[in-house]
Amino acid sequence: MDITELTVHELQEKLKNKELTSYEITKAYVDKIEEKEKAVQAFVTTLEKEALEKASKIDEEIKNGEEDGSFTGIPIGIKDNICTKGVKTTCSSKMLENFVSPYDATVVEKIDNEKMINLGKLNMDEFAMGGSTEYSYFKKTRNPWNLNKVPGGSSGGSAAAVASNMVPWALGSDTGGSIRQPASFCGVVGLKPTYGLVSRYGLVAFASSLDQIGPITKDVTDSAMLLNIIAGHDEKDTTSRKVEKKDYTKALKNDVKGIKIGVPKELFGEGINEEVKEKLEEAIKVYKDLGAEVEEFSLDIAKYSLATYYIIACAEASSNLGRFDGIRYGYRAKEFKDLKDLYRKSRSEGFGPEVKRRIILGTYVLSSGYYDAYYKKAQQVRTLVMNKFDKAFEKYDVILTPTSPTVAFDIGSKSNNPLEMYLADICTVSVNIAGLPGISIPCGVDKENMPIGMQLIGNKFQEETILNVAYTFEQKIKFRENYKPTFRKGEE
Ligand code: GLN
Repeated sequence: MDITELTVHELQEKLKNKELTSYEITKAYVDKIEEKEKAVQAFVTTLEKEALEKASKIDEEIKNGEEDGSFTGIPIGIKDNICTKGVKTTCSSKMLENFVSPYDATVVEKIDNEKMINLGKLNMDEFAMGGSTEYSYFKKTRNPWNLNKVPGGSSGGSAAAVASNMVPWALGSDTGGSIRQPASFCGVVGLKPTYGLVSRYGLVAFASSLDQIGPITKDVTDSAMLLNIIAGHDEKDTTSRKVEKKDYTKALKNDVKGIKIGVPKELFGEGINEEVKEKLEEAIKVYKDLGAEVEEFSLDIAKYSLATYYIIACAEASSNLGRFDGIRYGYRAKEFKDLKDLYRKSRSEGFGPEVKRRIILGTYVLSSGYYDAYYKKAQQVRTLVMNKFDKAFEKYDVILTPTSPTVAFDIGSKSNNPLEMYLADICTVSVNIAGLPGISIPCGVDKENMPIGMQLIGNKFQEETILNVAYTFEQKIKFRENYKPTFRKGEE
């Protein structure tokens, strides 16, 4: 048995039955990292030694009957924009290359409380800006299904690590698709929770009104379990909502009879790859056979949502990234004439080109002469987008779309063309604009054995609905059993 092939709920069983110890599990992952990391390049920091030490300690505690939490001794990987006390949090930027956070993010605290084991910090586009993980200052992560393709982004390290079995599950962050799109490119499950469900305290802010932390997992059950751990109100994040605690695994009913699914025709038209469309149509057929009511409708927002997203995201980023001035945090230029020169040089040398592009764009749309024309307009359109979704959810329980217009693309094919990179976010950004939950699950592969993702969008705080609709499909097509990355297959 390859331990690293197991899902977390399977690992949990084996730990409980004493078929496996935490050390055995952790060691299997450490060995997998040794074996795969050279090719996949998913980690910024690995914590093999620390992880094994913690696992031994936990096994000892379990033996003495001191520990029996349901996630005790289960390993995890964490995106490198989520603060971990005592371990570097770089945001894959030169600016934070040596930054060690003095505190844990709330989600990390929760994971620690469960006595889970951190295997390391995962690569990403610099400050989560991008859709391919090519904008990392340190390295380009590769897609385990085909090492010449991108894993998606910005949580590409998290998705690739899960897909190549280097971690059993991981945390990512999603501002405009950064959990769902890499999950789709790597054939795994990615959930972006409703804005306000998961605390953002300790998540390095990109665009505060859009950012959410969420799970990247092998299957939907694991996704529900990780959401159980991280969801909940946090006094340290004023945008986190007081909602009742739920057990999301209870929502997985394997039944979609009578569920109303709306399919926006705008996201099945021009620009969406034919094979992606075909697979999504097959998925729709599966839902119909399972007793769901599926209907096409018009969600007339796709053409505004990208512009709205890039204005709001860049505006907020330009403000959030103001703190990286060479004085309070991170990189400081070696030589400078005066204070202004120190700011200018530290920021010029510390940030990469994509981050600079966004800061410049954001500063422009917020400047007094253009504020009304761009930023204010974008906020007005944001309200419009929310209203359109509200209307759609009067009729439907779930909205079904592709996660991305294409499968994973070749490394280097879009990184020099920012506009093309932005256009690839067409299916995901409106979910963040409206603060809704969205999940991406694999629904098949194309002719070259690259995974295709399906996105299911729910109304606010209706994670249970999308998780169940996703789960029911997963039980039917059994993606993990039927499709394997070439990279993994080749080595069996
Ligand atoms: N690709 C989008 C962007 O570049 C989304 C990023 C994200 O969700 N962090 O902004």
